[in-house]
Amino acid sequence: MKYIDEFQNPDLARRLLDDIRSTVTRPWALMEVCGGQTHTIIRHGIDQLLPDPVELIHGPGCPVCVTPLEVIDKALEIASRPEVIFCSFGDMLRVPGTGRDLFQVRGEGGDVRVVYSPLDALRIARENPDREVVFFGIGFETTAPPNAMTVHQARRLGIRNFSLLVSHVRVPPAIEAIMQSPDCRVQAFLAAGHVCSVMGVGEYPALADRYRVPIVVTGFEPLDILEGVRRTVRQLERGEHTVENAYSRAVRPEGNPSALAMLEDVFEVTDRAWRGIGVIPDSGWRLSPRYRDYDAEYRFSVTGIHTREPAECRSGEVLQGLLKPNECEAFGTTCTPRSPLGATMVSSEGACAAYYLYRRLDATTDPLEASPVA
Ligand code: SF4
Repeated sequence: MKYIDEFQNPDLARRLLDDIRSTVTRPWALMEVCGGQTHTIIRHGIDQLLPDPVELIHGPGCPVCVTPLEVIDKALEIASRPEVIFCSFGDMLRVPGTGRDLFQVRGEGGDVRVVYSPLDALRIARENPDREVVFFGIGFETTAPPNAMTVHQARRLGIRNFSLLVSHVRVPPAIEAIMQSPDCRVQAFLAAGHVCSVMGVGEYPALADRYRVPIVVTGFEPLDILEGVRRTVRQLERGEHTVENAYSRAVRPEGNPSALAMLEDVFEVTDRAWRGIGVIPDSGWRLSPRYRDYDAEYRFSVTGIHTREPAECRSGEVLQGLLKPNECEAFGTTCTPRSPLGATMVSSEGACAAYYLYRRLDATTDPLEASPVA
């Protein structure tokens, strides 16, 4: 197949569904660990088209959603300073911190700017040598390489008024934490294809072996998801637990060597808190000591900010697959995209936002009657 719409072909989807139906003999719970995959699943009703024994559980795959409240509060503190131009991707501006968000900081006079690349922030730093420019660097293995490259560039060009507020996270330790949870029901994983296009698949065989779970690297279109499900179900029914690459059009086993080299140069692995989940050992990156001068946490002395997560938002349970968004008491009532209580309702990749947008307002919503909210 050559064009993206071919990966939405209804006839091929039916064939894959028939294959899954004829293979499955008992209940299986699969987790996707990518917000983009979650949105494809909900938007196309894939979870409702699958045979009943196959359950899709939405994992902690949305980068905005897993960024801890504490980091948002650090961003708010830095962005409030008069000497700072605070640059971020747009979806972080509405993520609630303690009492306010970046939009409110901007309304109060803070210089908060939406950019489309960390290199835009570096350009702003060059154009404003008398200001401090900070880029909010969050996300998984997919966004870490360009952020690392930008810091590398800043040092190479001698740009001293640029820094990075870093909250990068890594998928494999999160999978490990999910499998170690006493409440875990997950029996297989659809691994995020874009993460593996950077990192390769080398981190997954040990996890598949240790927890005896199939892991299938999966893409983002409806046929990709169905193929990922088909392969995991086939493994589960056979009692196998290997790593398969069902996204070979983008993922090479060794990943992207240039991106990996940049990560290795600029970052070091660290323990990282995940919003609503807590600290997962070795689950993140921070700037290595060589680049400490570019670390906004140190430059603006906000390392001491510690915040407790609000009790009313149950996104931690949503992110661990323990609760469907529409099972949260606040869903669609006190918590909506216009008035979000948690990041999973804000982000374009958040599970709560997907359920709201595609009218999964309660657990019994009929997909044929649902239509997206404008
Ligand atoms: S519906 Fe709102 S309050 Fe409930 S888990 Fe999602 S973001 Fe949090």
